[in-house]
Amino acid sequence: MAQLDLRRKLSVLADAAKYDASCASSGTSKRDSSGGRGIGSTEGMGICHAYTPDGRCVSLLKILLTNFCIYDCAYCINRASSNVARARFSVDEVVRLTLEFYRRNYIEGLFLSSGIIRSGDYTMEQLVRVARTLREAHDFRGYIHLKLIPEADPKLVEEAGLYADRLSANIELPRDEALQRLAPQKDVGVIKKAMGQVRLKVEAARPEKRDRAKPPRFAPAGQSTQLIVGADGAPDTEILQRSASLYGGYGLRRVYYSAFSPIPDSSTALPLSKPPLMREHRLYQADWLMRFYGFSAPEIGEAATDGMLDLAVDPKLAWALNRRELFPVDVNAAPREMLLRVPGLGVKTVDRIVSVRRYRTLRLEDVARLCRSVDKVRPFITALDWTPGGLTDAVDLRARLAPERAPKQLSLF
Ligand code: SF4
Repeated sequence: MAQLDLRRKLSVLADAAKYDASCASSGTSKRDSSGGRGIGSTEGMGICHAYTPDGRCVSLLKILLTNFCIYDCAYCINRASSNVARARFSVDEVVRLTLEFYRRNYIEGLFLSSGIIRSGDYTMEQLVRVARTLREAHDFRGYIHLKLIPEADPKLVEEAGLYADRLSANIELPRDEALQRLAPQKDVGVIKKAMGQVRLKVEAARPEKRDRAKPPRFAPAGQSTQLIVGADGAPDTEILQRSASLYGGYGLRRVYYSAFSPIPDSSTALPLSKPPLMREHRLYQADWLMRFYGFSAPEIGEAATDGMLDLAVDPKLAWALNRRELFPVDVNAAPREMLLRVPGLGVKTVDRIVSVRRYRTLRLEDVARLCRSVDKVRPFITALDWTPGGLTDAVDLRARLAPERAPKQLSLF
């Protein structure tokens, strides 16, 4: 293969990385920038913008070390049998690119993944070398997210955690049987074992107050994974159940959902079309309900039809419409957990309601001041001067609250 120049490699390997949704740098503290000076453009090949839960936008150089791969996962554009253009960075090239982009303020960190070259150990070793060189030879203080190669020696995984802020191993398909069928060289047991190792290490590195000496640093922003939606026939309820068990079993910070996108010359075992992007969006909303609103996966599934979430209304509203006997709730007396289930009330609003009601009894106009739109809330609450009467049970309530036209969701790519 002719030697490609760096720019051409960047174009190929940034494009190849865009299919991995598992990067956002939530959960890390901002590092000091030792090298970033001046104002730089934030647009460019391979730069992705990720939003943290607190709304902070961070820019990462998101690339693959190489899109050559000895595996042949049917759903992947980089699989061995694909005839996509290939390229490979050297370790030094990735280090140089990262430092140059960082110094120019284009990025705050690096997301680095790779196809499998030679073996899991060799590939992981290359990824670790990039992170180690950045940290030790160049005192790089930016964010680093490294992809884990689950088959790699646990010692390499351990080393990766010393240099990376976040690690991720992708489960990819919600059904184990589908992973076996579509990615026969992968082993879900091995992926879970690697995740389990990361969990134990992350927990061991969390300093206790009584500890005098800090334990060695290990992936302080934890681990994440990605599930592809719509490739294996798993309905939303099964996907959410899978996420719940990943959060519980491996202490993941995030599960990312990526709507399957058909690839050229794909296997006949794969669907021909992609699922609606709104499906991915509803799964993110449901995931949010599990992490911050106290919902369980089966509860969210109560309002699903044939296992699929309602695309017309958000999952919290769908649940409330399905459980109208629990409403209206009194904003002046209901426990926080129940207020969190009121459509239109977010965590911050609920906390402000709980705080304000300690010294005054809330009227509807008080709630209106605290939340974004009281129209959605009104049928589900009572306040000092408000009771919804028959509105809570109105047969046309869903139609009244469903947006006339579903909001347009932009593709990640
Ligand atoms: S191992 Fe990763 S890069 Fe290689 S074919 Fe499978 S999903 Fe694609």
